[in-house]
Amino acid sequence: MRQRLSVALVAMAAAASLAAQQPTTPGQIRPRPAEGRDPEFPPPNIREYKPRSTLVVPAHPVPRPKFPTIDFHGHPTPLTTPESINRVGEAMDSLNLRVMVNASGSSGDRLKQQIAAVAASKYKGRFVMFTTLNLQDVGPGSGARLAAQLEADVAAGAVGIGEIGKGFGLSARKADGTRLKLDDPELDPVWETAARLKIPVFIHVADPSEFFEPLDYRNERWLELALYSGRRYQDRTRFPSFEELMAERNRLFARHPKTTWVIAHLGWHANDLARLGRMFDSLPNLYSEVGAILYDLGRQPRAAREFFVKYQDRLLFGKDSFQPDEYPYYWRVFETFDEYFDYYRDYHAFWKLYGLGLPDAVLKKLYYGNALKITPGIPRSGFP
Ligand SMILES: [Zn+2]
Repeated sequence: MRQRLSVALVAMAAAASLAAQQPTTPGQIRPRPAEGRDPEFPPPNIREYKPRSTLVVPAHPVPRPKFPTIDFHGHPTPLTTPESINRVGEAMDSLNLRVMVNASGSSGDRLKQQIAAVAASKYKGRFVMFTTLNLQDVGPGSGARLAAQLEADVAAGAVGIGEIGKGFGLSARKADGTRLKLDDPELDPVWETAARLKIPVFIHVADPSEFFEPLDYRNERWLELALYSGRRYQDRTRFPSFEELMAERNRLFARHPKTTWVIAHLGWHANDLARLGRMFDSLPNLYSEVGAILYDLGRQPRAAREFFVKYQDRLLFGKDSFQPDEYPYYWRVFETFDEYFDYYRDYHAFWKLYGLGLPDAVLKKLYYGNALKITPGIPRSGFP
């Protein structure tokens, strides 16, 4: 018995030393197992365990941003009636949102209808419209046709293209049944027309890289993927890989250096800001919007602050889904040095946020300066 125990102990020690030798990701320390113990009570699952933080530190909630702001990534309810316009407009007033880009792009009559409804409302000048592109069934001649439609929509008052959704690249099919690649040359006339008309192209490519990775307990987005089947792109017979999409995207941007590109969600590189920095370095006409990746900024406040200062001329505020009560989390992350505070969506992130404390000059560019610079069609009034 004693001998058997000592054999077992030797085996355990060997296993422990093997585990200690296994390489860890740089900057990570392998956690020490709980000395072989099992909890005396059934452990909670990840949805149940929401411990109260006992940390007491100064808190500075920011209900309104320090400067009037442009939401470059707005998805308001359709702006076709005075009631809808007033409801969104009142929420914008309370949040110091001076202008919202309606990135739920529309074209033709629907575009004209929204432009006319806003112009006739008391929120005239507070919304601008982007146009959209129908990228289904692209085939010979589609590029020229879409470019002509783009010209007509811009003549009618659209001030940009977008948001081009993630279906472009992930799932949209050409007329011949193959996947429409992001850098398909058929669409070149569209991007060249955007450059000539001096309007930005706002494009969302792919989704967080974890959505393409195996759904196991090492996946950072396990809960979100378990909740939403439509976000699982693991099946390579149906979807390209994350890196395939990134390669197509980068070739597209490089081939059209005169087009102003705004990549949504920091290009899904908020978890690897150096990668996005290299893209900014090589593509002077590339900009990015910061919606729906706050969890990644708030877990690396020092690196993110450095990045926002270095690339302050390339970043635009945008929120994506229109939930007025979520905006103040952004202001708090950008404007304060607060520590360890809650994020608003537990399936995006199971960690807390820290503030970046951005300087005023950077905030002004992020909140409105860069959007005004690249979008001549946004009214200038109301900004400092
Ligand atoms: Zn969007």
